[in-house]
Amino acid sequence: MTYMKFGTKAVHAGVEPDPTTGAIMTPIYQTSTYVQESPGKHKGYEYARTQNPTRDALQASLAALENGKYGLCYATGLAATDTIMKTLRPGDEVICTNDMYGGTYRLFTTVFQPFGIKFIFVPMAEAESVEQYVTDKTKMVWVETPTNPLMNVIDIEKIAAITKKHEVLLTVDNTFATPYLQNPLDLGADIVMHSVTKYLGGHSDTVMGAIITNNEKLYESYKFLQNAAGGTPGPQDCFLVLRGIKTLHLRMRQHCINGKAVAEFLEQHPLVGKVYYPGLESHKGYEIAKKQMRDFGGMVSFTLKDDKVTTAIKTLENFNLFALAESLGGVESLCGHPASMTHASIPPEERKKSGLSDSLIRLSVGIEDTEDLIADLKQAIESASKA
Ligand SMILES: *Cc1c(COP(=O)(O)O)cnc(C)c1O
Repeated sequence: MTYMKFGTKAVHAGVEPDPTTGAIMTPIYQTSTYVQESPGKHKGYEYARTQNPTRDALQASLAALENGKYGLCYATGLAATDTIMKTLRPGDEVICTNDMYGGTYRLFTTVFQPFGIKFIFVPMAEAESVEQYVTDKTKMVWVETPTNPLMNVIDIEKIAAITKKHEVLLTVDNTFATPYLQNPLDLGADIVMHSVTKYLGGHSDTVMGAIITNNEKLYESYKFLQNAAGGTPGPQDCFLVLRGIKTLHLRMRQHCINGKAVAEFLEQHPLVGKVYYPGLESHKGYEIAKKQMRDFGGMVSFTLKDDKVTTAIKTLENFNLFALAESLGGVESLCGHPASMTHASIPPEERKKSGLSDSLIRLSVGIEDTEDLIADLKQAIESASKA
């Protein structure tokens, strides 16, 4: 079947009625093994680390959403990243976005660096400037866009021109944008990585990761590692994500509407300092975002004019609707303090270099009614300054 449009793919891709019963929903194949007729004679399934039909359906769905040939899923986003890095060898170099997700930074610097892989963290807002870091040892460029939590936007096409010229791989962490807003493979990336935990799952009930690629050789390596290293998700989680994906386009529409409304409210509020949202014309990545994304998403960060950490913390404590929690991308709105939560594993001097203020507040704007979210923001900000 070929699917023309995103919403149709979200509902149908990868999902076929169950061949034994006609069940329209892919069953949760909660099994570790499969019975063989005779040694080596089976229905294509031998052991659940290697293959599982619920996982197969999800993998096909993820590939279709990213306009990719191959999809693979892993126990978490970091397990997917770990898989990608395991194909590198001592001496290899990776050029990375400097204000990346804290857990990715920790995996690169504390797990893979000691094995002899070198990571170079650089700002990528000026895409052309990345070329100066390419050496004959460079194997990959790792891009996260929009970045977490400063919403810097990186020009994927421009970076892809550099990686193609030097024959190195380009990986894009597409967690924040989701395939609804941005398709890195179409823009020249070789590999897309997702924390499925976030918008793809969408209901804050699962952790999972994914890799999507058009490159058959890379796919074979990542698939080999899925089985050989074993970082696979269980069938129950695959089912939950399959269900989540069916409403991805509807959820994303509302995340975008609310994200924009919240960013605009914050921008005009007298107690607010800087607002980071790629959909604001004042945002320095606005033009690139407009070019490579279909809309601007639901992630918004801001500082208060009163730049004290204590005022930011008071604001966070004041929220009634926005729940103070790590993670993002669920239907409910969340707020967080990157410096002490998601980005605590990045050293203070690195945080400072990338412009991440200790008073920055990050919002994952959910799909509730816009007016209620704005009322909550207003009271939280205003009562923190009164106290
Ligand atoms: C959460 C996140 C990850 C890590 O994914 P997990 O599912 O938590 O392992 C990677 N990148 C980004 C941008 C994230 O938000």
